[in-house]
Amino acid sequence: MPKLTLGKPPRRRPGRIVMILALLMVAFVLWGALRRGPAPSMVIESERPAVGAATKIVARFSEPSRGLGTVRLEVVQGEKSVVLGEQRFPRAGSFNPTRGRFTPQAELSATVGRASEEWLREGELVVRATADRIAGPLRSKAQVVVERRMQVRLRPPRLELESRQHYVREGGAGVVVFRVGEGVDRSGVRAGTVESLSYPRPGGSTGERFALFAIPWELSDPAQVRLFAEDDAGNRVELPFVDVFKKVPPRADTLELTETFLEKVVPAIASATPGFDARGRLLDQYLRINGELRRSVLAQIAALARDSEPHVLWKGAFLQMPNTQRRSGFAENRTYFYQGRAVDHQTHLGLDLASTERAPVPAANSGKVVFAGWLSIYGNAVLLDHGYGLLSLYGHMAALDVKPGEMVGKGQRLGTSGSTGLAGGDHVHLEIFVQGKSVDPLEWLDEHWIRDNIATKVNLPG
Ligand SMILES: [Zn+2]
Repeated sequence: MPKLTLGKPPRRRPGRIVMILALLMVAFVLWGALRRGPAPSMVIESERPAVGAATKIVARFSEPSRGLGTVRLEVVQGEKSVVLGEQRFPRAGSFNPTRGRFTPQAELSATVGRASEEWLREGELVVRATADRIAGPLRSKAQVVVERRMQVRLRPPRLELESRQHYVREGGAGVVVFRVGEGVDRSGVRAGTVESLSYPRPGGSTGERFALFAIPWELSDPAQVRLFAEDDAGNRVELPFVDVFKKVPPRADTLELTETFLEKVVPAIASATPGFDARGRLLDQYLRINGELRRSVLAQIAALARDSEPHVLWKGAFLQMPNTQRRSGFAENRTYFYQGRAVDHQTHLGLDLASTERAPVPAANSGKVVFAGWLSIYGNAVLLDHGYGLLSLYGHMAALDVKPGEMVGKGQRLGTSGSTGLAGGDHVHLEIFVQGKSVDPLEWLDEHWIRDNIATKVNLPG
């Protein structure tokens, strides 16, 4: 363009035409830029995909060059619309940009739902965010509008029990098969505060699901065990489904903490735990290991359980390590004594199996190795994923023969027994987890229990 206006054309007439055309083009570009003005950008975010009793919605507005003017958030359903929020901001002027005084970003948030908008009906709802443009003699005032269509769901979701005869016990496990309606995005079993989430039933029809669930050992009220379903609008329904709930009498045990035992276990665990507070007496350090470390490793296992494969990787009863005696059992309440004084209480959540020293440890069932290495209070340990949230743990081992990611068959050697971690003598601590919660391993060692309570209910190979 500058070439055309500055250069000296050989003939006058065509030059004039070119110049006029160029000026027209400049004017057109300027007019376009001024008319359009900077367009604010907007995004609508919602806490849930659908609207129910109360769903939080946020609209974010942004216009960094000249600032925002008026912004608005509203909901529209049919003929009715309600403004949820509106704000007006001063802007930078066209020829005197007062940077710092205008508002480049803003946010309007509101809770939408039947709780506040009684007029809402089931069906579609439009959430609309509006921001105006800078208007002027040449500029379009057309507002910028962003809409988000959402479903309004006001009824509790459909939930139908399909399986029968649910016999459960404190600290036990089970399976329940059920069907859910449209829009359900979370379902399973709630036992107290512990949730066992469901999976689609293998080979099942639309909406058919099953949950492999845990009954926490500390839960004694059967009314707290419920099937639940929650839809994408937050509507929730719960159903009782347990036919028989067996209480398990508490079992107590005592453990003497000797100086020899503390000297064996405390420094080994402390040095293998990054960030461990190794101050104070051996007993104080032991209490931190038995308390804080025990809780944190259980949380670590629960996190691994969330990535469990949605497939059955196991078949039939779990194997008890051959030629072993069962020592401590599941959910034993241990009182720890030091110099004749009770210093700690913890619950033992596995089955202790003792054989000869350095005995081969077989996989109790087929599965995938998800952890093999040092695991805090469990010492050298292997964790197997059997699918659908079912995991088995082998603790206190001397040597490990497997690596994470490996698939192992039932009976395959995982390593050798030992007394690493919080262990006095050579033994294997077998612990079974269902959805990250420890359950009684004895049920899983019993082929009749598996067949009647798990395999036949969900048509798993058993
Ligand atoms: Zn144990």
